[in-house]
Amino acid sequence: MSTDARETLETDVLVVGAGPAGLSCAIRLADLCAKHGEKHHGAGSAFPAANPPALRPENIFVLEKASDLGAHCLSGALLDPSALRELVPDFERSNPPLLSPVTDDAVCYLTNQRSYKLPVTPPFLRNHGNYIISLNQFIKWLGGRAEQAGVSLFCGFSGIEVLYEGNRVVGVRTGDKGVDRKGNRKSNYQPGYDVRAKITIFAEGVDGSLTKQLVRRLGLDRNRNPQSYALGVKELWEIPADRIQKGQVIHTVGWPLRSRQFGGGFIYAPSETQIVLGLVAGLDDENPSFDPHHAFQQWKTHPWLRRLLEGGEMVRYGAKCIPEGGYFSVPMTAMDGGLIVGDAAGFLNSQRLKGIHLAMKTGMLAAEVAHAALSKGDSSAQQLARFEQDWKADWVGKELWRVRNYHQRFQHGFWNGALYVALELATGGRLGPSRVGATADYRHMKRLSELTLPKTAQFKPDGRLTFDKLTDVYHSGTFYEEDQPSHLRIADFNICNGRCIVEYGNPCVHYCPAAVYEMEDELSGSGKHLKVNSSNCVHCKTCDIRDPYQNILWVCPEGGGGPHYNGL
Ligand code: SF4
Repeated sequence: MSTDARETLETDVLVVGAGPAGLSCAIRLADLCAKHGEKHHGAGSAFPAANPPALRPENIFVLEKASDLGAHCLSGALLDPSALRELVPDFERSNPPLLSPVTDDAVCYLTNQRSYKLPVTPPFLRNHGNYIISLNQFIKWLGGRAEQAGVSLFCGFSGIEVLYEGNRVVGVRTGDKGVDRKGNRKSNYQPGYDVRAKITIFAEGVDGSLTKQLVRRLGLDRNRNPQSYALGVKELWEIPADRIQKGQVIHTVGWPLRSRQFGGGFIYAPSETQIVLGLVAGLDDENPSFDPHHAFQQWKTHPWLRRLLEGGEMVRYGAKCIPEGGYFSVPMTAMDGGLIVGDAAGFLNSQRLKGIHLAMKTGMLAAEVAHAALSKGDSSAQQLARFEQDWKADWVGKELWRVRNYHQRFQHGFWNGALYVALELATGGRLGPSRVGATADYRHMKRLSELTLPKTAQFKPDGRLTFDKLTDVYHSGTFYEEDQPSHLRIADFNICNGRCIVEYGNPCVHYCPAAVYEMEDELSGSGKHLKVNSSNCVHCKTCDIRDPYQNILWVCPEGGGGPHYNGL
């Protein structure tokens, strides 16, 4: 092939993203092939010859931007196995990497020195029957099952553009490889592929860059709430034995977050000598200087956490946004030739702090709808709209409906929200309007002139309990081909170097958990300019969401680049 020619690959189903939603979709589709292929086209089949040919597993393509399965996947993670049980009914015998069943739950309220355990764990935070997992390991296992079923998995390929015919989705273009930072072709240049499919299923995860294009172009968010997000920042620690029991799950509220902030901490113990711990904070915070990574480091200095971690070692780090908006933030998920599933659509229960089971189940439901559509030879929006009906009628819709306004209740502060949640629990969700409106996260940010911020002491990490962002990024395994165009597109640097300094104090320097953004002194000595260290980026998407001018666009880097999460 000439290096100038862009090759076109044709397939039946293209799944973009090998996370829990994408892989569950692919596995379910392959199962349906196995179940229906014989019946339709086997010996003695009465299936009319005019009908479309049966879907074959090898014609289910899954594109993944990470170089390895699971390398870009990050979550707490607690798994509610309800969808797994439906996907792999005998999953216990298939040896999935479920690190530990949850053995005990607790919720603690923290002040800066004290910790108060709630006498009763709220029902929605009880995890009996759930498992502590590493999402990377779980994804590798799911991917192995997809491969065994004959699905075609392609790692290291970024989807950069949705392909349309009119407004019909007909596939995805993958990114070119071997382009230098100025956009010139290098000696190893390889053009991307146009992957055309009868049905494209977007399972890119939170704030997916292609899903964003789709939603805008087709107006899929009409009459919906804007999506709301939180950022989760997390570390994996090895600790001495006898500090925590295997399977213990602890959630914290309060310090160091302020009462107006949404979020809290989590500590999960997959073994007696290993814990994952992290802090989740809403991206709707009014304070432009709020730094979630700093807050996480501060949280670990609480006397109780310090005792837990003392003598231990931090071994991994990661950060990722979480779609918290719930039922009314889910966009229209079906269109001509396409479906959106999992976190990309915002299928997450923010009250239970869980989304993997919803991602998996929406992937499976999409597979059933896609299979039926292909059998009929009709992948129109009308035919695929069955997915909307199906997820709403399924336990997915019921679970999300019960907590439909959960996150929105916290828009006016934590305690306000907690009060509403308690009342809603007591009244079985009958309190108040059926839909509470929401404002996009970045619109909540206030200008410096509108705030009186307390003076905070400069954060000095000690390198044992607390770390700076660069040390943490090192532990995320992040790696990029250095000589490539930045995947963080700044629409107008003049805003960063002028207005933003004055109005917001460059919030990107604070909210980015990977020290990507830096304000550098001008050589002339007059003023500062923004420097973007793209090769630190851990793909959390915060900048794409929280920038007050919406001046930063996150796009996929060259395939394979980014964090290399392992054990997270
Ligand atoms: Fe997250 Fe943006 Fe920083 Fe990358 S650059 S780590 S997406 S905030």
